[in-house]
Amino acid sequence: MLPLLEFAAGDKVLAAVRLNHVVTHIDYAGQHVRVTTAEHGEFIANAVLITVPLGVLKAGSVQFHPALPQRKQAAIDRMGFGLLNKVVLEYDQLDKPFWPEVQSFLTLRLDDVDKTKPEVAADLLPRDSITFMNCGREGERPALMAHVHCSLATFVESHTDEQVGELFGRHLARFFPEAKDTKPTRTIVTRWLADPFSRGSYSHIPVGGDVDDIKALAEPCGEHANNEHKPVLFWAGEHTLPEKHAHVHGALESGSVAAKQLLAQFPALAKRP
Ligand SMILES: Cc1cc2nc3c(=O)[nH]c(=O)nc-3n(C[C@H](O)[C@H](O)[C@H](O)COP(=O)(O)OP(=O)(O)OC[C@H]3O[C@@H](n4cnc5c(N)ncnc54)[C@H](O)[C@@H]3O)c2cc1C
Repeated sequence: MLPLLEFAAGDKVLAAVRLNHVVTHIDYAGQHVRVTTAEHGEFIANAVLITVPLGVLKAGSVQFHPALPQRKQAAIDRMGFGLLNKVVLEYDQLDKPFWPEVQSFLTLRLDDVDKTKPEVAADLLPRDSITFMNCGREGERPALMAHVHCSLATFVESHTDEQVGELFGRHLARFFPEAKDTKPTRTIVTRWLADPFSRGSYSHIPVGGDVDDIKALAEPCGEHANNEHKPVLFWAGEHTLPEKHAHVHGALESGSVAAKQLLAQFPALAKRP
């Protein structure tokens, strides 16, 4: 990741990045914006670019003073922030995978097993189908990675890695009854919902929602008499680019859009080395 950032931002910008500074408050009531962090004090700026995930904004983890404009806050509340987790199952004990190796992806559908039998049903995970990626390439340890979303994504977060491995092992045993051992030796579960710096995976427009909400999320705001009626809060992140939200390239492009907005308001920034 670092070479990519060096390429995109350059050494000088990267040197200015402060890691592990958790922003708790943004006060834009005065002439300047005061950004308070949990453990590293305050930073004063003419304006700020806010790129925390929508899930963090929805959770209210960053407090704004004064409160955000109604249009911005309503868009934060209305937009959805969905959940996608990954479950990696590693099999040290296997000489050979028990699943078909020719496929990169494997979708196991409940319709393919006799779920009317209570003993079978008891072993199945609560999802009509689960797609696994075949991760163990030739010469590597056999491994599967499941993409889990919606209720199953929440379900895995409420169990330990060990428990999830046990449950997936039992589920897989029903699809591969010939396999000697379907319980993984190691399981890794991502937990994007529990992560206080994500609170979910990526934005979506819920049923009844509108793309205008994404536009509202992107709009600079915070103008008032104390700051010469100029916006001081700028916004970027995947949730701010209507046509490419929920993706890395949307996040990246939203940064360019915000940079142009900032340069238009603070042209002197362009002259900085
Ligand atoms: C499982 C999964 C698979 C995905 N697959 C793909 C894919 O195949 N292709 C694709 O294009 N996209 C994919 N995505 C989506 C993609 O990862 C996101 O859209 C993208 O990373 C969002 O970038 P961002 O800069 O908006 O947010 P982030 O990358 O989340 O950056 C936000 C930053 O803000 C920081 N932060 C949060 N709170 C605070 C705070 N209070 N103070 C200071 N800093 C804070 C966070 O630590 C983080 O560094 C996937 C996402 C998930 C979860």
